[in-house]
Amino acid sequence: MVSGPGGVGKGTIVDALVARDPQLWLSRSWTTRAQRPGEPDDAYVFVSAEDFERRISEGGFLEWTEFLGNYYGTPRPDHLDRTPGPAGDARDDVTDFVLEIEVDGAQQVKHQFPEAILIFVLPPSREEQERRLRGRGDPDDKVHARLRKAEKEEPIGRDIADYLVVNDEFDRTVDEMMSIIDRERTRSGR
Ligand code: 5GP
Repeated sequence: MVSGPGGVGKGTIVDALVARDPQLWLSRSWTTRAQRPGEPDDAYVFVSAEDFERRISEGGFLEWTEFLGNYYGTPRPDHLDRTPGPAGDARDDVTDFVLEIEVDGAQQVKHQFPEAILIFVLPPSREEQERRLRGRGDPDDKVHARLRKAEKEEPIGRDIADYLVVNDEFDRTVDEMMSIIDRERTRSGR
């Protein structure tokens, strides 16, 4: 699991990890949040609150939470939307699921799967995080709400994380995360 405050660059990092390592497979979450301008259609499965709540009642989520007024959840693996990869993509290589989720969801997953590893990504500074959040084009009130939320999440993340990684320089961060994954694979005999 990769978690961390908004604006820390988690999305870009997990995309790079999955592109680099065919053993990794990125779970696509459901959300009731509106799609941002310029955000890819497959960033999430964008659904209504009714559809989300129906799926909750059917037990269709591995974990779900409410974050700043919207639902976010990881579909259970047997419902996972395994979007076909490029031609010749060896999906059978997949050994590890990557979940990019916030700390409440990470706690729920750790409860069910104690072997799950949480990497908590930190911004190099609050200023840099704020700059990245603004760069997405969110309105001021949303940026502030996310910064306040991040301040609450960070101590919990630090507490429950197996690894803390500072995203100071993108390529270095991805290398560090890859070596954490390799170390964990060796440790668990994969
Ligand atoms: P955003 O709106 O910025 O895409 O996501 C807001 C927060 O929700 C981020 O911290 C992101 O990691 C988290 N998130 C995304 N998908 C899920 C999910 O399926 N479950 C949980 N618990 N959090 C998620």
